[in-house]
Amino acid sequence: MKWRGRSSSQNVEDRRGVSPTGLIAGGIGTIILILIVALLGGDPSQIINDSQEPSTGNSSGYVETAEEKELSDFVKVVFADTETVWTEIFREEGLTYSYPKLVLYSGAVESTCGVSSSSTGPFYCPGDHKVYVDLSFCKELQVKLNAPGDFAMAYVIAHEVGHHVQTLLGTTDKVMELQTKLSEKEFNEYLVRFELQADYLAGVWANHAEQMGILEAGDIEEALNAASAVGDDRIQQNTYGYTVPDSFTHGTSEQRNSWFYKGYTSGTLNGGDTFNASEL
Ligand SMILES: [Zn+2]
Repeated sequence: MKWRGRSSSQNVEDRRGVSPTGLIAGGIGTIILILIVALLGGDPSQIINDSQEPSTGNSSGYVETAEEKELSDFVKVVFADTETVWTEIFREEGLTYSYPKLVLYSGAVESTCGVSSSSTGPFYCPGDHKVYVDLSFCKELQVKLNAPGDFAMAYVIAHEVGHHVQTLLGTTDKVMELQTKLSEKEFNEYLVRFELQADYLAGVWANHAEQMGILEAGDIEEALNAASAVGDDRIQQNTYGYTVPDSFTHGTSEQRNSWFYKGYTSGTLNGGDTFNASEL
């Protein structure tokens, strides 16, 4: 991706080096009511809720390594590109896009969704309209998940911003209302459709990024490979050696790859109704 020298998002909170205040408080009993929409399935016990107000994010004076600066510069440019693209798409729909915030953290972070550790992976908290990223995930994506290339990480950011779009469009609330009404298995099926829609929206963004002339050869392949890398089946197979399809919350590698690609070829919100799709 051609990102160097281009403008960065101004909607960034740098909380690296800041410890969350609520780590000791609370427990995992309240987890059912926590909504956190992450890139990966993950273990929900990694999220520890507490009822306190999150501490406000101060610029921490954190000193970046050269490698970290490269990554933080990159994600800030990608975030700015999502602002440009979604502002335009919302305008075409007669809507106003309100910007989310990007929170950079290290180790653990507090949001209105609770306290989360970096093992959660990048996530979006609908309660505060913020995308949370520990940049150490970039390496995990490349090495552990075997999804190299800068546009793999761009896809990850665009997926989380996709959750913000779903929140603004009212989809997130609708899905979450179902949580108390459905069995876990039934609710997981809705979650998969919800997550695949975020992949579709990431693809829509990639379409517009291409029109902006900021993609390089191989970028779309990097994103498609990353979408496959974070499929529930692949992650479970690699982690446990087997898969439990009823527990899938994000979709298979094939489904995630396919919905990103659908969004990329469409470039519009039309065609992203994963909830009514007869086949995923
Ligand atoms: Zn997600």
